[in-house]
Amino acid sequence: MSIKRIRVYPDPILRKKCRKVKNIDDKIIRIAKDLKETMLAAGGVGLAANQIGELSRIITLHIPEEKKPLVLINPEIISKNGTRDVLEGCLSFPGYQGLVKRSVSVSARWLDLNKSLYKVTKEELFAQALEHEIDHLNGILYTDHLLEHEKLKQAGLQDGLNEDQPHSHDVDMKIIAHKEQGEPIEILESRLNFSKLYSDSSISQMQYDLFNEGYLEN
Ligand SMILES: [Zn+2]
Repeated sequence: MSIKRIRVYPDPILRKKCRKVKNIDDKIIRIAKDLKETMLAAGGVGLAANQIGELSRIITLHIPEEKKPLVLINPEIISKNGTRDVLEGCLSFPGYQGLVKRSVSVSARWLDLNKSLYKVTKEELFAQALEHEIDHLNGILYTDHLLEHEKLKQAGLQDGLNEDQPHSHDVDMKIIAHKEQGEPIEILESRLNFSKLYSDSSISQMQYDLFNEGYLEN
């Protein structure tokens, strides 16, 4: 077992979808143990395999009231109920927290390393962690769920953390294009997926595309 480097945003592996585990073999057991050890060393509530560079559907959870850390293979959410706003953070965005909408309760199933099947319904932190970590396996980050861009705030910023760390948020925007002076002639509505972009240069690219389509003047 060893402690792995936790990948931080914008590492592209965080946007990769993890593959279903077909056999719980020695390799999977090793990844699961590394994941658990890395999560415990970082003091996290949960960690997903792609956060340590492995593309298998494995997460680990350490929910205080559960006492023992858990390994979940091929975890799936079966159903969810209700919504609530919660403050959330992620080991791949060190130093930041944001307000997101999560379910009040979540029913999920998974296998443990002995191939035993678990089916549970959980609330509170356990439910939140299941949604957060299973999102990771699908390449989804909590910043994709931020309620308000402004709410992403630096939490407990300490020396050594990068204050300029990029954050992302999908923004609905409306572009009113004036090809000539006078009445707006076309309104484009689009969703700008900042969460899928890796740098501000993508915004320049968008302006460039709009210009080439004749919507913006040079
Ligand atoms: Zn996370």
